[in-house]
Amino acid sequence: MRMNVKPIPTISGRINEIRGLTAEIVNKEILPNENMLWAWHADRRVTDAELEQSRHLREEIKAKVKQVGLWAPHLPVEYGGAGLDFLEHAYMNEVLAYAVGAASLFGVVAPNSGNQTILLKYGTEDQKKEWLQPLIDGKMESGFSMTEPDQPGSDPRSLKTTARRDGDEWVINGHKWFTSNGKRADFFIVMCRTEDPDGPADRNGKMTQIIVPKDTPGVNVIRGVPVWGRDSDHCEIIYDNVRVPVTNQLGQTGTGHQAAQDRLGAGRVFHCMNSIGQMWRAFDLMVERAMTREVHGGKLETKQFIQGFIADSYIDIQAARLMTIHTAEKMEGGGDPRTDISAIKIFVPAAYIRVVDRAIQVWGAAGVSGDLPLAGMYEGARTLRLADGPDEVHKILIAKNVLRRYHDGQGWDFGN
Ligand SMILES: Cc1cc2nc3c(=O)[nH]c(=O)nc-3n(C[C@H](O)[C@H](O)[C@H](O)COP(=O)(O)OP(=O)(O)OC[C@H]3O[C@@H](n4cnc5c(N)ncnc54)[C@H](O)[C@@H]3O)c2cc1C
Repeated sequence: MRMNVKPIPTISGRINEIRGLTAEIVNKEILPNENMLWAWHADRRVTDAELEQSRHLREEIKAKVKQVGLWAPHLPVEYGGAGLDFLEHAYMNEVLAYAVGAASLFGVVAPNSGNQTILLKYGTEDQKKEWLQPLIDGKMESGFSMTEPDQPGSDPRSLKTTARRDGDEWVINGHKWFTSNGKRADFFIVMCRTEDPDGPADRNGKMTQIIVPKDTPGVNVIRGVPVWGRDSDHCEIIYDNVRVPVTNQLGQTGTGHQAAQDRLGAGRVFHCMNSIGQMWRAFDLMVERAMTREVHGGKLETKQFIQGFIADSYIDIQAARLMTIHTAEKMEGGGDPRTDISAIKIFVPAAYIRVVDRAIQVWGAAGVSGDLPLAGMYEGARTLRLADGPDEVHKILIAKNVLRRYHDGQGWDFGN
């Protein structure tokens, strides 16, 4: 089924144009070719000719994306990107996410895209030349190495990996895991607690992000940690007396935590818009199946249980979408969006799980098979509840922000 994207009267002409162009490529080029595009994921043996055909098709679609000016929406024009502003990018994501893997055909591939954004904001001109440009050109791959097995990732200030200053070098020691893209990466951005006896004392012990090429002696990629029962590229890595020049540090010493927050803030809105696009797809699949599958003497669509699924999913998607757009507009308008970001970070993945769960139920065995994208969506949605700040941490933040207002003698203003 095609994604039904029509102009929205309340948003700008440019955003409608971006949504329309994205939908055109998703509907015409990607959806009809989903199996061929990702042929190597197939459960059957794939021939070399099929692999070549799929590579060729991906390149053709990328060329079309570039032609309409939508390549790399997160990057400025001078770096070969589409130069979209925050709202344009957010609205584009819900359309892009409808098709499996479409984002990569538009030049947005995590964690490279997040690392590109960090390098753009915090990188020196030399760092941009050495790491950012090859990343953009597809000549390098990267990973973001923050989470540690022995410390809670949901409390990043507790991280133990250290970087000690020795002359013109940082010497890094630590144990990380779930560094995505770890096997393919050429370099990692590593979150370290920095100690510099000659530097400002107040910055010692604070976090700094440091670029570490993977082939530096002492970088040991131990394994890809299996995820959802399968091999993965989310890697466990030991950094053992790894020496890199101090010029590999990103931004000022001690700014690593802020840089990580920068990466996550806008990213959470983008992730939620992605989830909404995927929910939209699951919803279309569910309704389509309900209209065609006959059980117990009637189509599924005539059964009230299934009508309940449709109605509840409609409500979940609308609520998730409006909350996310409200948050994006607040961010764009310069308001304080922190409470709203936490609220969508909790609500949207939970709504996504509910919607996909109902779609799987309606499809029966096919719903959990590899023939449909629903099983992969379910795993992805469940993972979102703990990655990038688990639900509990965001609930604590919401409650703190609300209570602070009431302690100040004000109520909460839901109109703003
Ligand atoms: C597929 C995948 C990809 C990932 N990619 C990367 C990556 O590229 N780079 C990277 O650095 N990391 C990555 N991560 C790691 C991810 O960011 C962390 O798993 C996440 O931050 C949670 O940290 P943790 O696993 O250490 O859980 P913990 O911090 O140990 O938390 C465990 C649970 O404790 C509970 N909890 C936590 N705090 C509180 C509280 N205050 N009150 C009550 N309950 C609480 C929550 O339920 C939480 O889920 C990835 C993870 C996954 C699953």
